[in-house]
Amino acid sequence: MAQTSAIYPGTFDPITNGHIDIIRRGLRFVDRLVIGVATNPSKDPLFTLEERVKMVRRETADLAASEDTVIEVVPFNELLMHFAERVGATVIIRGLRAVADFEYEFQMTGMNYQINPDIETVFLMADPRYQTIASKLVKEVAWYDGKITGFVPKTVAEEVVARIKEKKRG
Ligand code: ADP
Repeated sequence: MAQTSAIYPGTFDPITNGHIDIIRRGLRFVDRLVIGVATNPSKDPLFTLEERVKMVRRETADLAASEDTVIEVVPFNELLMHFAERVGATVIIRGLRAVADFEYEFQMTGMNYQINPDIETVFLMADPRYQTIASKLVKEVAWYDGKITGFVPKTVAEEVVARIKEKKRG
């Protein structure tokens, strides 16, 4: 039987419970999930690319072990469609939160489809429990000393708090 490889791309700065839910659900219908960690210097990430890759690997290690599926965490700094071709993926998985993500995703998918119509983008609706979680807001809440443990895994929360402390110290 043909194996399906998919990419779940993102900045993951940091990985949240919402991302982890999409990964867990994506694993139900693909044989190989490549989590693509984008360099994204324009977003001025809190964590370096290496740190984000390490974080995503650590937080998804259990998922890979519990499913009959392969997870690979791969950094990328190229056009998503070129990355997909390079790793042999035919599906792109994206999470969709309420209306906020729609317009951007709609445009991106349209452009990507014109670049390579053989690669299909699949959207998973965010679970209502995680609907409002965004990496950007997690960082904002932490910046103002709010509690972020409900939004990200425990170790990630500690890392975010520590990094923000460092940043504030200058
Ligand atoms: P990007 O820079 O590509 O938006 P993100 O790390 O912010 O990267 O998000 C990666 C993907 O995960 C996107 O498809 C985004 O819509 C989705 N996503 C982010 N947060 C959530 C969430 N809470 N629930 C479901 N999907 C989410």
